[in-house]
Amino acid sequence: MQDAAVIDGRSVADSVVETVKQAAEELKQQTGVIPGIAVVIVGEDPASKVYVASKGKKAKECGFHSVQHTLADSTSEADLLALVEELNDDPQIHGILVQLPLPGHIDDGRVIQAINPQKDVDGFHVINAGKLTTGEVETAFVPCTPAGSTLLIERVRGKDLSGLNAVVVGRSNIVGKPMASLLLAANATVTVAHSRTPDLPAACRNADILVAAVGRPEMIKGDWVKPGATIIDVGINRIAAPERGEGKTRLVGDVAYGECAKVAGAITPVPGGVGPMTIAMLMANTLVSAYRHAGRTPPN
Ligand code: NDP
Repeated sequence: MQDAAVIDGRSVADSVVETVKQAAEELKQQTGVIPGIAVVIVGEDPASKVYVASKGKKAKECGFHSVQHTLADSTSEADLLALVEELNDDPQIHGILVQLPLPGHIDDGRVIQAINPQKDVDGFHVINAGKLTTGEVETAFVPCTPAGSTLLIERVRGKDLSGLNAVVVGRSNIVGKPMASLLLAANATVTVAHSRTPDLPAACRNADILVAAVGRPEMIKGDWVKPGATIIDVGINRIAAPERGEGKTRLVGDVAYGECAKVAGAITPVPGGVGPMTIAMLMANTLVSAYRHAGRTPPN
Protein backbone atom coordinates (compact mmCIF):
# COMPACT_ATOMS: atom_id res chain seq x y z
CA MET A 1 0.00 0.00 0.00
CA GLN A 2 1.12 3.54 -0.75
CA ASP A 3 2.24 5.73 2.16
CA ALA A 4 -0.24 8.26 3.55
CA ALA A 5 -0.38 11.82 2.23
CA VAL A 6 1.52 14.13 4.56
CA ILE A 7 -0.64 16.97 5.88
CA ASP A 8 1.64 19.99 5.74
CA GLY A 9 0.72 22.06 8.80
CA ARG A 10 3.41 24.62 8.06
CA SER A 11 1.97 25.60 4.71
CA VAL A 12 -1.63 25.73 6.01
CA ALA A 13 -0.41 27.80 8.98
CA ASP A 14 1.43 30.15 6.62
CA SER A 15 -1.73 30.77 4.65
CA VAL A 16 -3.70 31.46 7.86
CA VAL A 17 -1.02 33.92 9.00
CA GLU A 18 -1.03 35.66 5.61
CA THR A 19 -4.80 36.13 5.81
CA VAL A 20 -4.51 37.43 9.39
CA LYS A 21 -1.79 39.87 8.36
CA GLN A 22 -3.91 41.33 5.57
CA ALA A 23 -7.03 41.57 7.74
CA ALA A 24 -5.02 43.27 10.51
CA GLU A 25 -3.79 45.84 8.01
CA GLU A 26 -7.36 46.46 6.79
CA LEU A 27 -8.60 46.94 10.36
CA LYS A 28 -5.83 49.41 11.00
CA GLN A 29 -6.61 51.36 7.81
CA GLN A 30 -10.35 51.45 8.52
CA THR A 31 -10.42 52.07 12.28
CA GLY A 32 -6.89 52.80 13.48
CA VAL A 33 -7.10 49.72 15.73
CA ILE A 34 -3.98 47.55 15.85
CA PRO A 35 -4.61 44.04 17.23
CA GLY A 36 -2.75 43.70 20.53
CA ILE A 37 -1.65 40.54 22.31
CA ALA A 38 -0.08 40.17 25.74
CA VAL A 39 1.76 36.99 26.62
CA VAL A 40 2.54 36.35 30.27
CA ILE A 41 5.16 33.84 31.34
CA VAL A 42 6.01 32.98 34.93
CA GLY A 43 9.26 31.15 35.66
CA GLU A 44 12.01 29.63 33.60
CA ASP A 45 10.51 26.52 31.97
CA PRO A 46 12.66 26.15 28.80
CA ALA A 47 9.85 24.72 26.61
CA SER A 48 7.49 27.52 27.70
CA LYS A 49 10.14 30.12 26.89
CA VAL A 50 10.50 28.72 23.36
CA TYR A 51 6.70 28.73 22.82
CA VAL A 52 6.35 32.28 24.14
CA ALA A 53 9.20 33.56 21.95
CA SER A 54 7.66 32.04 18.82
CA LYS A 55 4.23 33.50 19.68
CA GLY A 56 5.77 36.97 20.05
CA LYS A 57 7.66 36.60 16.78
CA LYS A 58 4.54 35.52 14.89
CA ALA A 59 2.52 38.39 16.39
CA LYS A 60 5.08 40.88 15.10
CA GLU A 61 4.98 39.18 11.68
CA CYS A 62 1.20 39.76 11.66
CA GLY A 63 1.71 43.46 12.40
CA PHE A 64 0.25 43.16 15.91
CA HIS A 65 1.08 45.20 18.97
CA SER A 66 2.78 42.51 21.05
CA VAL A 67 3.91 42.67 24.66
CA GLN A 68 5.52 40.04 26.81
CA HIS A 69 5.47 40.03 30.61
CA THR A 70 8.17 37.82 32.06
CA LEU A 71 7.66 37.25 35.77
CA ALA A 72 9.95 35.55 38.28
CA ASP A 73 9.18 32.02 39.42
CA SER A 74 8.52 33.43 42.91
CA THR A 75 5.74 35.79 41.70
CA SER A 76 2.70 35.53 43.97
CA GLU A 77 -0.73 34.57 42.67
CA ALA A 78 -2.03 37.96 43.83
CA ASP A 79 0.56 39.81 41.73
CA LEU A 80 -0.20 37.69 38.68
CA LEU A 81 -3.94 38.30 39.13
CA ALA A 82 -3.24 42.04 39.41
CA LEU A 83 -1.36 41.94 36.08
CA VAL A 84 -4.23 40.04 34.43
CA GLU A 85 -6.62 42.71 35.72
CA GLU A 86 -4.42 45.45 34.29
CA LEU A 87 -4.39 43.71 30.89
CA ASN A 88 -8.18 43.20 31.04
CA ASP A 89 -8.49 46.99 31.35
CA ASP A 90 -5.88 47.86 28.70
CA PRO A 91 -7.68 49.00 25.52
CA GLN A 92 -4.59 48.28 23.41
CA ILE A 93 -4.70 44.58 24.35
CA HIS A 94 -7.27 42.32 22.66
CA GLY A 95 -5.77 38.96 23.53
CA ILE A 96 -4.29 37.75 26.82
CA LEU A 97 -2.39 34.51 27.04
CA VAL A 98 -0.95 33.16 30.27
CA GLN A 99 1.54 30.45 29.39
CA LEU A 100 0.85 27.17 31.21
CA PRO A 101 1.97 25.40 33.30
CA LEU A 102 2.29 27.96 36.11
CA PRO A 103 4.53 27.32 39.12
CA GLY A 104 3.00 25.00 41.71
CA HIS A 105 2.07 27.74 44.21
CA ILE A 106 -0.26 29.41 41.68
CA ASP A 107 -3.71 28.03 40.88
CA ASP A 108 -3.86 27.79 37.04
CA GLY A 109 -7.66 27.71 37.09
CA ARG A 110 -8.02 30.85 39.17
CA VAL A 111 -5.72 32.78 36.83
CA ILE A 112 -7.43 31.59 33.64
CA GLN A 113 -10.88 32.43 35.04
CA ALA A 114 -9.64 35.94 35.88
CA ILE A 115 -9.00 36.71 32.20
CA ASN A 116 -11.80 38.68 30.56
CA PRO A 117 -13.51 35.99 28.41
CA GLN A 118 -13.62 38.49 25.55
CA LYS A 119 -9.81 38.61 25.60
CA ASP A 120 -9.32 34.89 26.33
CA VAL A 121 -7.72 34.04 22.97
CA ASP A 122 -6.58 30.65 24.29
CA GLY A 123 -10.27 29.76 24.76
CA PHE A 124 -9.73 28.18 28.18
CA HIS A 125 -12.18 30.31 30.20
CA VAL A 126 -15.32 28.42 31.29
CA ILE A 127 -17.49 30.91 29.38
CA ASN A 128 -15.69 30.08 26.14
CA ALA A 129 -15.63 26.35 26.91
CA GLY A 130 -19.39 26.52 27.60
CA LYS A 131 -20.07 28.42 24.38
CA LEU A 132 -18.16 25.83 22.38
CA THR A 133 -20.06 22.90 23.86
CA THR A 134 -23.42 24.63 23.37
CA GLY A 135 -22.58 25.57 19.78
CA GLU A 136 -22.35 29.34 20.33
CA VAL A 137 -19.08 29.63 18.45
CA GLU A 138 -19.85 32.99 16.81
CA THR A 139 -18.99 34.81 20.05
CA ALA A 140 -16.60 32.27 21.57
CA PHE A 141 -12.88 31.71 21.36
CA VAL A 142 -12.08 28.13 20.42
CA PRO A 143 -8.82 26.69 21.86
CA CYS A 144 -6.07 27.07 19.28
CA THR A 145 -4.78 23.49 18.99
CA PRO A 146 -8.16 21.86 18.33
CA ALA A 147 -9.16 24.78 16.07
CA GLY A 148 -5.97 24.30 14.04
CA SER A 149 -6.42 20.53 13.95
CA THR A 150 -9.94 21.06 12.61
CA LEU A 151 -8.61 23.15 9.72
CA LEU A 152 -6.19 20.34 8.86
CA ILE A 153 -9.00 17.75 8.97
CA GLU A 154 -11.08 20.02 6.69
CA ARG A 155 -8.28 20.01 4.13
CA VAL A 156 -8.54 16.23 3.83
CA ARG A 157 -12.17 15.44 4.63
CA GLY A 158 -14.04 18.71 4.02
CA LYS A 159 -16.16 20.58 6.56
CA ASP A 160 -18.97 18.04 6.90
CA LEU A 161 -17.87 14.83 8.60
CA SER A 162 -21.28 13.14 8.46
CA GLY A 163 -20.97 9.37 8.40
CA LEU A 164 -17.39 9.35 9.69
CA ASN A 165 -16.20 7.92 13.00
CA ALA A 166 -13.77 10.17 14.86
CA VAL A 167 -11.75 8.94 17.83
CA VAL A 168 -9.96 11.43 20.07
CA VAL A 169 -7.40 9.88 22.38
CA GLY A 170 -7.04 12.24 25.36
CA ARG A 171 -9.65 14.21 27.30
CA SER A 172 -7.84 17.31 28.51
CA ASN A 173 -9.69 20.63 28.69
CA ILE A 174 -7.06 22.15 26.39
CA VAL A 175 -7.10 19.62 23.56
CA GLY A 176 -9.19 16.44 23.88
CA LYS A 177 -12.55 17.82 25.04
CA PRO A 178 -12.71 20.87 22.72
CA MET A 179 -11.50 18.68 19.84
CA ALA A 180 -14.39 16.29 20.49
CA SER A 181 -16.85 19.23 20.52
CA LEU A 182 -15.56 20.51 17.18
CA LEU A 183 -15.76 17.07 15.57
CA LEU A 184 -19.28 16.66 16.89
CA ALA A 185 -20.20 20.10 15.52
CA ALA A 186 -18.93 18.87 12.12
CA ASN A 187 -21.35 15.89 12.38
CA ALA A 188 -18.76 13.17 13.04
CA THR A 189 -19.67 10.30 15.35
CA VAL A 190 -17.22 10.89 18.17
CA THR A 191 -15.54 8.63 20.72
CA VAL A 192 -13.28 10.12 23.38
CA ALA A 193 -10.74 7.60 24.68
CA HIS A 194 -8.47 8.05 27.70
CA SER A 195 -6.30 6.19 30.17
CA ARG A 196 -9.24 4.13 31.47
CA THR A 197 -10.46 3.04 28.03
CA PRO A 198 -10.32 -0.75 27.72
CA ASP A 199 -8.83 -2.05 24.47
CA LEU A 200 -7.62 1.26 23.09
CA PRO A 201 -6.26 -0.38 19.90
CA ALA A 202 -9.76 -1.64 19.06
CA ALA A 203 -11.26 1.81 19.70
CA CYS A 204 -8.66 3.40 17.41
CA ARG A 205 -9.23 0.84 14.65
CA ASN A 206 -12.76 2.19 14.35
CA ALA A 207 -11.55 5.71 13.51
CA ASP A 208 -11.88 7.30 10.10
CA ILE A 209 -10.37 10.33 11.83
CA LEU A 210 -7.94 9.63 14.66
CA VAL A 211 -6.73 12.49 16.85
CA ALA A 212 -3.94 11.63 19.29
CA ALA A 213 -3.49 14.05 22.20
CA VAL A 214 -1.92 11.92 24.89
CA GLY A 215 1.64 13.01 25.59
CA ARG A 216 3.10 9.50 25.20
CA PRO A 217 5.79 9.11 22.53
CA GLU A 218 4.75 6.96 19.56
CA MET A 219 2.03 5.17 21.54
CA ILE A 220 -0.38 4.69 18.61
CA LYS A 221 0.87 1.76 16.52
CA GLY A 222 0.38 0.90 12.85
CA ASP A 223 -1.94 -2.01 13.58
CA TRP A 224 -4.28 0.31 15.56
CA VAL A 225 -5.03 2.29 12.41
CA LYS A 226 -7.96 1.76 10.04
CA PRO A 227 -6.72 1.69 6.42
CA GLY A 228 -7.20 5.11 4.83
CA ALA A 229 -7.76 6.93 8.15
CA THR A 230 -6.86 10.57 8.65
CA ILE A 231 -4.43 10.89 11.57
CA ILE A 232 -3.90 14.13 13.46
CA ASP A 233 -0.97 13.81 15.84
CA VAL A 234 -1.15 16.55 18.47
CA GLY A 235 1.55 15.08 20.70
CA ILE A 236 4.89 16.79 21.10
CA ASN A 237 7.39 14.61 22.96
CA ARG A 238 11.13 15.07 23.22
CA ILE A 239 12.99 11.75 23.30
CA ALA A 240 16.63 10.74 23.37
CA ALA A 241 18.22 10.35 19.92
CA PRO A 242 21.56 8.59 20.49
CA GLU A 243 21.77 7.99 16.70
CA ARG A 244 22.32 11.75 16.35
CA GLY A 245 25.13 11.76 18.87
CA GLU A 246 25.58 11.70 22.61
CA GLY A 247 22.99 13.69 24.56
CA LYS A 248 21.01 14.57 21.41
CA THR A 249 17.22 14.56 21.35
CA ARG A 250 14.43 14.73 18.79
CA LEU A 251 10.72 15.48 18.73
CA VAL A 252 8.15 12.77 18.11
CA GLY A 253 4.38 12.70 18.29
CA ASP A 254 2.00 10.33 20.04
CA VAL A 255 1.81 8.30 16.83
CA ALA A 256 4.46 5.85 15.58
CA TYR A 257 4.75 7.81 12.34
CA GLY A 258 6.55 5.36 10.05
CA GLU A 259 4.29 2.37 10.64
CA CYS A 260 1.05 4.43 10.82
CA ALA A 261 1.86 6.28 7.58
CA LYS A 262 1.89 2.89 5.82
CA VAL A 263 -1.77 2.33 6.74
CA ALA A 264 -3.36 5.80 7.01
CA GLY A 265 -4.69 7.87 4.12
CA ALA A 266 -3.28 11.14 5.48
CA ILE A 267 -1.18 12.01 8.51
CA THR A 268 0.35 15.05 10.21
CA PRO A 269 4.10 14.94 10.85
CA VAL A 270 5.79 16.00 14.09
CA PRO A 271 7.20 18.59 13.90
CA GLY A 272 5.46 20.48 11.10
CA GLY A 273 1.87 19.36 11.61
CA VAL A 274 -0.36 20.63 14.39
CA GLY A 275 2.33 22.74 16.13
CA PRO A 276 2.48 25.59 13.59
CA MET A 277 -1.33 25.60 13.38
CA THR A 278 -1.62 26.30 17.11
CA ILE A 279 0.34 29.54 16.83
CA ALA A 280 -1.46 30.56 13.63
CA MET A 281 -4.85 30.09 15.32
CA LEU A 282 -3.70 32.17 18.27
CA MET A 283 -3.06 35.00 15.82
CA ALA A 284 -6.44 34.39 14.18
CA ASN A 285 -8.22 34.52 17.57
CA THR A 286 -6.44 37.76 18.48
CA LEU A 287 -7.45 39.29 15.16
CA VAL A 288 -11.07 38.26 15.74
CA SER A 289 -10.95 39.82 19.20
CA ALA A 290 -9.62 43.10 17.80
CA TYR A 291 -12.42 43.18 15.19
CA ARG A 292 -15.03 42.51 17.85
CA HIS A 293 -13.60 45.20 20.14
CA ALA A 294 -13.67 47.64 17.20
CA GLY A 295 -17.35 46.80 16.60
CA ARG A 296 -16.57 45.17 13.26
CA THR A 297 -17.52 41.75 11.98
CA PRO A 298 -14.41 39.56 11.91
CA PRO A 299 -13.45 38.01 8.58
CA ASN A 300 -14.07 34.26 8.21
P1 NDP B 1 -2.78 16.02 29.25
O1 NDP B 1 -1.67 15.36 29.98
O2 NDP B 1 -3.53 17.12 29.89
O3 NDP B 1 -3.84 14.91 28.80
C1 NDP B 1 -3.42 13.69 28.29
C2 NDP B 1 -4.61 12.80 28.04
O4 NDP B 1 -4.14 11.57 27.53
C3 NDP B 1 -5.44 12.50 29.28
O5 NDP B 1 -6.80 12.62 29.01
C4 NDP B 1 -5.06 11.06 29.62
O6 NDP B 1 -6.12 10.31 30.15
C5 NDP B 1 -4.73 10.51 28.26
N1 NDP B 1 -3.81 9.37 28.39
C6 NDP B 1 -2.62 9.35 29.06
N2 NDP B 1 -2.07 8.14 28.96
C7 NDP B 1 -2.90 7.38 28.22
C8 NDP B 1 -2.87 6.05 27.78
N3 NDP B 1 -1.87 5.22 28.08
N4 NDP B 1 -3.92 5.60 27.04
C9 NDP B 1 -4.93 6.42 26.73
N5 NDP B 1 -5.02 7.70 27.11
C10 NDP B 1 -4.01 8.18 27.85
O7 NDP B 1 -2.14 16.49 27.87
P2 NDP B 1 -2.59 17.64 26.81
O8 NDP B 1 -3.94 17.35 26.30
O9 NDP B 1 -2.31 18.97 27.36
O10 NDP B 1 -1.51 17.38 25.66
C11 NDP B 1 -1.44 16.15 24.98
C12 NDP B 1 -0.23 16.16 24.06
O11 NDP B 1 -0.38 17.20 23.12
C13 NDP B 1 1.11 16.43 24.75
O12 NDP B 1 2.11 15.70 24.06
C14 NDP B 1 1.33 17.91 24.52
O13 NDP B 1 2.70 18.26 24.50
C15 NDP B 1 0.73 18.07 23.15
N6 NDP B 1 0.26 19.42 22.86
C16 NDP B 1 0.60 19.92 21.66
C17 NDP B 1 0.18 21.17 21.27
C18 NDP B 1 0.54 21.64 19.91
O14 NDP B 1 0.54 22.83 19.68
N7 NDP B 1 0.82 20.73 18.97
C19 NDP B 1 -0.60 22.01 22.17
C20 NDP B 1 -1.01 21.35 23.40
C21 NDP B 1 -0.55 20.11 23.71
P3 NDP B 1 -6.74 10.57 31.63
O15 NDP B 1 -7.59 11.81 31.47
O16 NDP B 1 -7.53 9.37 31.89
O17 NDP B 1 -5.58 10.79 32.54
